[in-house]
Amino acid sequence: MKTRCGAANLGRSLLKAGRGQNCRPQKATSSEGAFSTMRGSSGTRSGRRGRPPQDWSPVPQCSLRRILSLSVILSAAALAADTPRQHPLTSLPVTSVRIDDKFWAPRIEINRTHTLETVHRKLIETGAIQNFAIAAGRAPGKFRGPFWSDSDVYKWLEGNSWSLAERRDAQLEAASDEVIASIAAAQMPDGYLDTYFQLVEPELRWKYLAFGHEMFCAGHMYEAATAHFEATGKRTLLNVAIKHADHVDAYFGPGKHDGQPGHEEIELGLVKLYRATGEKRYLKLAAYFLDQRGQKPSLFEREYEKLDPARTTEFLGRTITFRTLQDALFRKDPSRFDTQYSQDHLPVRQQDKVVGHAVRAMYLYSGMADVAGEMGDTGLFEAATRLYRDLTTKRIYVTGGIGPSVENEGFTRDYDLPNETAYQETCASIGVAMWADRMLALTGDAQYADTMETALYNGFPAGVSLDGDTFFYDNPLYSAGKATRKTWFTVPCCPTNVARIMPSIGKYIYSQSDDALWVNLYVQSKVTAGLPLAVSTDYPWSGAVTLKISQPSTREYGLRLRIPGWAGGADFRLNNQPVHPPIDKGYAVFHRSWATGDVIQLNLSMPVELLEANPGVIDDRGRVALRRGPVIYALEQTDNRADLDRLVLARSPKLEAHYEPRVLKGVAVITGQAMLKPAGSWHDQLYRTTRAEALEGPVNIRAVPYCTWANRGSGKMAVWIESSK
Ligand SMILES: [Zn+2]
Repeated sequence: MKTRCGAANLGRSLLKAGRGQNCRPQKATSSEGAFSTMRGSSGTRSGRRGRPPQDWSPVPQCSLRRILSLSVILSAAALAADTPRQHPLTSLPVTSVRIDDKFWAPRIEINRTHTLETVHRKLIETGAIQNFAIAAGRAPGKFRGPFWSDSDVYKWLEGNSWSLAERRDAQLEAASDEVIASIAAAQMPDGYLDTYFQLVEPELRWKYLAFGHEMFCAGHMYEAATAHFEATGKRTLLNVAIKHADHVDAYFGPGKHDGQPGHEEIELGLVKLYRATGEKRYLKLAAYFLDQRGQKPSLFEREYEKLDPARTTEFLGRTITFRTLQDALFRKDPSRFDTQYSQDHLPVRQQDKVVGHAVRAMYLYSGMADVAGEMGDTGLFEAATRLYRDLTTKRIYVTGGIGPSVENEGFTRDYDLPNETAYQETCASIGVAMWADRMLALTGDAQYADTMETALYNGFPAGVSLDGDTFFYDNPLYSAGKATRKTWFTVPCCPTNVARIMPSIGKYIYSQSDDALWVNLYVQSKVTAGLPLAVSTDYPWSGAVTLKISQPSTREYGLRLRIPGWAGGADFRLNNQPVHPPIDKGYAVFHRSWATGDVIQLNLSMPVELLEANPGVIDDRGRVALRRGPVIYALEQTDNRADLDRLVLARSPKLEAHYEPRVLKGVAVITGQAMLKPAGSWHDQLYRTTRAEALEGPVNIRAVPYCTWANRGSGKMAVWIESSK
């Protein structure tokens, strides 16, 4: 088993803390956006404000100065921010969406038959599942794995649950039940549950929040529990989660202990637990954790001061002090304690720059959006809106992935989006989709669906092989030929995240509001909730979509169809007649009494497009990327006789797309021609005076979807290709 992950890298670099890259954001060199899917303001916004805050202040312990500075920031932001919907969109129950398309259905099935099984086997082999039995006193042995090992078990359980909702599988269900019984047995009488701290560091329980991951594990427990409950109706894991959340609520909060997660996630889990149980304390606790961030001195710094400097731990095979871990995260500059890594540098309501560890950031912003929607908290919403704009105009890859640096597994500076060293952790692409989905729910604005779609069709599925049993942790956009997916990682967050998100895709495809079904992504499927209908399409390989109503509506009801930001045009026909529906924030709006058999046909223009990046992105200067519909393409050496490094695309090359059922389990490929730079006779020269050399060629080229690269052995790969002027 080979280790290849940022956390392991962190482990390697621990002892050279202070010599790492400076990951603080630097001032932008340009105000132009690098990401092309941001939409202009439609002018059709609803103008409705969020629900007024309810019976609990979301801004606890504010000083007057903080309130005043906050109000200045908020009023400035309000001028630029969108407004949240009064009633956020909700996802459809996972059981009410049946996916039957060429893109997702095979991946969901492979996830069920291969990925979940692979993850289960590895979680047994590496001791993650056994840790619960040991903590329960049911088995001898020692804790194995990283601090946050429990979270991977919870993520596997969540994946099992969504998969069971899609298709009952007795073996999968029995495996879940067995592990859940072990988890329940490991829970302490007071509700506490974290096998690392129970078995290794009981004295540090809730005292090492900066990197202990207790709250991270808790959040994944709550997410798994609510998924398991929704999918199976069983309360076995939900009861554990409730008891745990009650314990956390009794321990943390105003007048109790201060606390916040080093790795955000508990906020999302608490909101889901609130939605599943109606227990408002969980929502308030999520809001509390959000507003704890940004204290001076940081809660993590205070924690650091209390830690015995000599106290050691085992971390990924090394014995180091707890303080060394903190130093690596927060004291790269030893003269100051900088908590940007954990987005703890400012109160969240004042943040406007996406910083630090990318997955942490995405989970934080997702939590902010969740709480903003549930509590009608405009301040959180406006901060999330500012952060989203920062991400999508300066800090996101064309694939919807984020986080260029291995050093902090996260953000560096504006426009720093290198290709070969792109870290772009699979979990971070998932995080982008999660956050964008929540912003979409708050606004009904299709720009968020654009970002969500880009991450879901590109950055995310690239993280897993088409056979479902090997994985990328980091996802480069250029490879000299060595990158291959691995069977597992010492820190397996990405495989377990893939395993849980893949079977829950249905939750992203549709949304519902009081008066409409929203179609966010076009996926061949049948819907049995809201406005029951069937969608027929070969999307993303074709832009032709047919929606057929399968049950009459008892009243006038809305159907909102997203017009993707990438689409050059969209034609609609209703019962075979051309129609021009009004457009609201990127959604075509139909509102009528529906009869069984009513048909809407949507045709989206889906040409091959060349994208260029903002000049601030140094690696992409003079280069173009290929996009068709929502799919970003890559050239692989195996498809191209000419060396990829010598290819030069004409400014307006002739490129065409066609579906290849036998290539990569069925994809649309892009073919065309490019010119070749001369091989050159550089010998041992590093520099020389320029010379005029004619391009050679043309040569045939073929590109495949980026998300399917590295499925046919190793070889060069490039997303960004040199372009002639
Ligand atoms: Zn990961």
